[in-house]
Amino acid sequence: MENNYFDSKILEEILNIPSPTGYTKNMLNYLQKELDNMNLEYKISNKGALLATIKGKDSNKSITFSAHIDTLGAIVSQVKSNSRLSINQIGGYMMNSVEGENVIIHTRNGKKYEGTLQTIKPSIHIDGNDAKDLKRDCKNYEIVIDEQVSEPQDVYNLGIEVGNIVSFDTRTRITKSGFIKSRYLDDKASVAAILHVIRYIKLNDIKPKCDINFLFSNYEEVGHGASSFIPDNTVEFIAVDMGCPGENQNSSEYDVCICTKDSNGPYDYELINKLVDTCKENNINYKLDIYPNYGSDATAALKAGMDARFALIGPGIFASHGYERTHISSIIETEKLIISYIKS
Ligand SMILES: [Zn+2]
Repeated sequence: MENNYFDSKILEEILNIPSPTGYTKNMLNYLQKELDNMNLEYKISNKGALLATIKGKDSNKSITFSAHIDTLGAIVSQVKSNSRLSINQIGGYMMNSVEGENVIIHTRNGKKYEGTLQTIKPSIHIDGNDAKDLKRDCKNYEIVIDEQVSEPQDVYNLGIEVGNIVSFDTRTRITKSGFIKSRYLDDKASVAAILHVIRYIKLNDIKPKCDINFLFSNYEEVGHGASSFIPDNTVEFIAVDMGCPGENQNSSEYDVCICTKDSNGPYDYELINKLVDTCKENNINYKLDIYPNYGSDATAALKAGMDARFALIGPGIFASHGYERTHISSIIETEKLIISYIKS
């Protein structure tokens, strides 16, 4: 049996591929290459999602797992007269969490330029308390481009224009103590987990009782990720996305988190029972929790008309949508639950 559940290489590689919602082509190419190497069938939707299937003994029904390849990011909304760039947010995050961050501006002709996201009053020596008290609102931020530009035309000459995608430095670190710190562990930790699961199933030649689909969605952060491309024979849909450890939460960075209710209401009671039983039978460390400000790809699927039992599981990601952190064990427990559930 292959027992190595975690190798940080895949996670580090995918965290390194900028993929704000709407700009996920490079992530898609990466997945295609990985799945080709593992000799697994897949298809790609018009919208840019990827669906891989492992055939089971019974192909009349299937279980679909999803993880999203898109992340938060920004888009250029204006080339300002001072030759800096205003942005508009992609996805929901606090502006202070990206303040002072290095960015890449991706132009439509394939060029990449570096810059920094600063407030419009970035120096305490110039603006004093005004700099401190400035409202951390998107309109008070601008990208300072690391090119010698002094007027808007200089910026346009580089190929930078309104509508360009902006990605933030992920600042990925893996500590000796097993913590992973990075932007966009939501949901790339789960994408890495699923790629490990697929490799595990292939290496160990596991034949599931029914077909198993893995849907890699690409518009989750804006709400309509898994709204299409789910096979009709899906009887259970399990979104693999982050859990939320923090003050007054039951989740942790060490266990697989199982969400019982989020902002859209309760998840399927019976399916959660099955997942909890699977954890108990296989000594998998799990935590049940509730996330009042969360919506997942399971909801996107349900709102699009899917008729299946649905659940949400995943690694516990601290400081979600900020500079996030989890522990390797949380990803491993998530992988174990997926594998054990597929085998059960
Ligand atoms: Zn997510």
